[in-house]
Amino acid sequence: MIRVERAAKPAVIEQNQVAWTQALLNAVTKEDKTRAEKKYRHLEIKRALVSMFHGKCAYCESKILHVDYGHIEHFRPKSKLEFRSLAFEWRNLLLSCAICNGREHKGDRFPEAAEGGPLVNPCEDFPDAHFEFVFDFRARLATVVGTTARGKTTETCLGLNRQDLRAYRSRWVMQLCVLSRCAENDPDAAILLEEACRDDAEYAAFARALVAGHDCDGA
Ligand SMILES: [Zn+2]
Repeated sequence: MIRVERAAKPAVIEQNQVAWTQALLNAVTKEDKTRAEKKYRHLEIKRALVSMFHGKCAYCESKILHVDYGHIEHFRPKSKLEFRSLAFEWRNLLLSCAICNGREHKGDRFPEAAEGGPLVNPCEDFPDAHFEFVFDFRARLATVVGTTARGKTTETCLGLNRQDLRAYRSRWVMQLCVLSRCAENDPDAAILLEEACRDDAEYAAFARALVAGHDCDGA
C-alpha cells in the first residue's frame, strides 16, 4: 500500500450528493434502497477513482483493469447503518480489487479502535507509518508486515499476504532485486527500476523499500 493523494471531487458528486443521500436515507423498500444506492456506480465516479489509483487496488496495489472491472469500495461500509450517509461521500470511496473487497477479507468489516482498527486508509494515513514491505531474498518472499496495531489489523483483515497474492508479488520483487544489481552499470535497468517505484507501478511500496534498503543482500 502506498499513500495516494485524493483527487478533486467529481462534478457528478458535487451536483447530486445531497439528493442521492436523501433518497437513500428515505428508501423504505428493498427495491428503493437498491435503486438509490447504486448511484455511486456512476461512470464519472469510477473514472475518477481509476485515474486516482492508476488502475490499482488501493489496498494490495495489484493492477486490476486487465483482468477485472474493479470495485468502488466504501471504506466505511455503506451496509452499516451508521455509515449509510457516506454512500456518496467522495472521501469514503476507494478503488479496490474484488478479493481485497470480498467477503473473505474487507467485505463489510470496519474494525473500531478497540478491535485494533481503524484500517489503514491510503488517502488518510501514511502507510509507511504502519507497515514494512519486507523482501526475504533467501525465501524469495515479499511480505507486508504490520508495525502498528492498525497495520497488523489491516494486513490480517485485507489478507495482504494471502497465498496467491504474495506468490505473484514475490516473483515480481525478485525480478526487481536482480534488476537493482544491474542498475548501477546499465542505464536501461536503472530506468526500469525507477519506473517500478512510481505511483502507477504495481507493488510500488516494495520497489521503494527495496531501493531504499538492502533487501537484496542475500545475493
Ligand atoms: Zn487488492
